[in-house]
Amino acid sequence: MSDERKVKKEEMIPRPAQYLIRFDDLCPAMTQTRWQQYRKVLDEFRIHPILAVIPDNRDPELMRQPEDPRFWEQMGAMEDAGATIALHGYQHRCESRGESLLELHRWSEFAGIELETQRQWIQAGIGLLRDKGLHPRVWAGPRHGFDRNTLQALRELGLEYISDGFARVAFRRHGVIWIPQQLWSPVAKAKGLWTICIHPQSARDSDVERLRLFLKGHWPQVTSFDRVLKEFDGRTLSFREWMYQTVALWRAEWRARRRRKAWNLGRADFRRRGEEE
Ligand SMILES: [Zn+2]
Repeated sequence: MSDERKVKKEEMIPRPAQYLIRFDDLCPAMTQTRWQQYRKVLDEFRIHPILAVIPDNRDPELMRQPEDPRFWEQMGAMEDAGATIALHGYQHRCESRGESLLELHRWSEFAGIELETQRQWIQAGIGLLRDKGLHPRVWAGPRHGFDRNTLQALRELGLEYISDGFARVAFRRHGVIWIPQQLWSPVAKAKGLWTICIHPQSARDSDVERLRLFLKGHWPQVTSFDRVLKEFDGRTLSFREWMYQTVALWRAEWRARRRRKAWNLGRADFRRRGEEE
């Protein structure tokens, strides 16, 4: 690669940083309180978020209240206003211990499942969302769980974008385009494209306020899925960015393992104390 080309590739990392906002675990039976607070913030700053919708939620953790009959209509209205719909798995039943391309959680819905089943689930998920009038355009795997079979099924079914990965730019790999997702709360960065993934069901009041304050200072840097695609030139990762992503992923996996360990220790401790009492 010539020096000129090399410089060009490095320059592709956006400066100042750009941010995408993504909301996860959206389904008709989710808790409404926090979600409605977040919607106000989105309206206030005219943000076009990624809405990661579960097509047929069967995860009891995410069934917090009776189904909202206006849920699908609301998602449709938000999509019409510029939001992007992401396919957040199929039923959010994370019962597989297969190895994911990103090992952030031990259990996932898709990683390790045979190709034919994954294909059926993805097809069913896309169909369910389309029946509700939505147009899923990007994959957002529950718990970052997916493997090469998932990517093959997505390609075959015409879904060629995924919201995941730890690089600082969008890139092409394994035949799909990765729009990186590296943050779970707002953090200011000097350069790069960053997706902040928010889980309204487990968020606190202070988390909503934190996003509002962040947007107050950074809203001109908030981009949209469509704008990212428009600016994307189809590139693969430069070697340097590939190294960056490898290290960032390794650190995220290490932190996740530590969190799981602390959580398990906490539970063991809790059980021990329970026995003593
Ligand atoms: Zn989820």
